[in-house]
Amino acid sequence: MAKLYFNYSVMNAGKSAHLLLVRHNYIENGDKVLLFTSVKDDRSGIGKVASRIGISADAIAVSPEDDIFDIAQKLNAESPVTAVLVDEVQFMTPEQVYQMSEIVDTLELPCLTWGLKNNFQGQLFSPAVENMLALADEINLIKTVCHCGKRATMILKYNPDGSIVQGGEVVETGGESRYVSVCRKHWKEGNIGPRARQAVFEAGYGTKVVCQSCETVFPSIFGDPEQANDCAAKLEGDKISGFFGSTVADACEFHFARGVPEEAKQGVICDACIRGHLQEGRLLRTSSWFDNDPPRNAAPLAALSVATNDDIREAIAKSMEEQE
Ligand SMILES: [Zn+2]
Ligand SMILES: [Zn+2]
Repeated sequence: MAKLYFNYSVMNAGKSAHLLLVRHNYIENGDKVLLFTSVKDDRSGIGKVASRIGISADAIAVSPEDDIFDIAQKLNAESPVTAVLVDEVQFMTPEQVYQMSEIVDTLELPCLTWGLKNNFQGQLFSPAVENMLALADEINLIKTVCHCGKRATMILKYNPDGSIVQGGEVVETGGESRYVSVCRKHWKEGNIGPRARQAVFEAGYGTKVVCQSCETVFPSIFGDPEQANDCAAKLEGDKISGFFGSTVADACEFHFARGVPEEAKQGVICDACIRGHLQEGRLLRTSSWFDNDPPRNAAPLAALSVATNDDIREAIAKSMEEQE
């Protein structure tokens, strides 16, 4: 029995790829399928369904005044059609969604449709979507995940600087790079996730934290020019103090036991550089805010009077072991 299917998704979930795969399977089978899309979707040219993975197909682009049932009926009379596929349901009119149900009920052809369910404001995208949810025989979510790993069911829209767009034009195509699909919790929080934030940062927004030694640039955590993930420590004199964000030096102090090497520059220093100095046996951890008793430096510093690199390495390894 023919049915009306609604395959809905959030943005960037591979919706068009899914549609094109279904179409491909029909055509491989020698079947004739009709493919409709909206004139409002002009991202890859009007009358084209294209997926970001590089495949595309020509489609019949309909305007709001077009009758999809009429078109399908005529084309089916010319030569029999096996199925009708419709992309961008959210841009159709409620009447056109009704016409899709007529393709099923009158022509007895399966009608498979794809579209977005929600807009970025967390409401149903359009009256067409409302109508489709009411009329469809089968509703299927094309699954994709949020940056946290949970299922993404919502869409966030953000400005070039990473701030969240709350209002404005809902029916808008293109610019998918500034939409991100997230779980409901992260949608409420307006959390676009690390990858989108990194892209914002690379586009030149946000505060940079620069390791003075290796000149690697990191995005600041709190807008502080000295605090980033993996780069939140500072070399002053022969002492390195670390802060939240550093994976090796958070709330710790280190000393260069045998003088500051030339490649260690004063100022912000990243974890990779600190690790390098640790591996070379140049650094001793002298204090940590996490431990009150007894000072970690006792054993390693005693070893210093006769220190060779090997002695220092051993002392550091021992002191690291004790700290765990
Ligand atoms: Zn999430
Ligand atoms: Zn560095």
